[in-house]
Amino acid sequence: MNIVRIENVFKEYTLGTSQVQALKGINLQIKSGEFLAIAGPSGSGKSTLLNLIGCIDTPSSGKIYINNQDVSGQTPDQLSELRARTIGFIFQTFNLFSVLSAAENVEYPLLQFKELTASKRQERIIKFLDIVGLQAFAHHRPNQLSGGQRQRVAIARALATHPKVILADEPTANLDHKTGEDILQLMKQINRDSGTTFIFSTHDAKVMAMAERLVRIEDGRLVEEDRVLA
Ligand code: ADP
Ligand code: ADP
Repeated sequence: MNIVRIENVFKEYTLGTSQVQALKGINLQIKSGEFLAIAGPSGSGKSTLLNLIGCIDTPSSGKIYINNQDVSGQTPDQLSELRARTIGFIFQTFNLFSVLSAAENVEYPLLQFKELTASKRQERIIKFLDIVGLQAFAHHRPNQLSGGQRQRVAIARALATHPKVILADEPTANLDHKTGEDILQLMKQINRDSGTTFIFSTHDAKVMAMAERLVRIEDGRLVEEDRVLA
């Protein structure tokens, strides 16, 4: 099953009086369970594409289907519901709340679901901090954690809502090489264990090499890499 289907998508930004064509006719189908890298240099359109898949932004033209739902046919409320129940986000700058503990950061996105009682939330906090290897750090705040540990909290937070797809925008860009590799390995392990689809962007060749499928963006156009990956 295709969890993401992108058909002839264009995205244009208006900057003052000039227009930037960030995406120029993207077609892409992503199957449930894939571990996919979107590779390309800075400014090639990676973030724009991830933001469209994550329903944070809408295309100028073309169609996007997430979990077989046409994103353009949704009201803003339906879209935030789709996003909350289907997508998890990981960012290059971690985007944790600095005043909240690791456990509270993981809990935060769960608070929007009325059906999750405090004890259910607690179960998920424990489960996902355990999966990322941070059970002993539940009460640490982000500034008491290393970069790699912060990204692990962000991964636990992204997983906690049971999303179908995790979108990671340059997840290793602010980590040293070894830590970045560990984070990618963890994501890959979770992908294998849970079947959660991962789509991550990178401009780092070593990170690209850890993908199971690679697509390249160059100047808003997509090229599939024709190779079998590890
Ligand atoms: P990448 O993630 O590969 O670095 P982006 O998707 O951020 O690329 O950017 C693609 C192009 O779109 C670039 O030319 C960038 O300057 C432009 N762009 C991105 N976001 C905006 C925006 N909000 N307004 C105007 N131009 C933008
Ligand atoms: P239940 O809802 O009955 O507790 P599971 O514990 O099997 O069901 O899984 C619930 C959610 O947790 C699913 O979305 C699944 O993808 C995710 N999940 C389960 N095991 C892992 C794991 N090892 N790593 C990441 N996510 C997991």
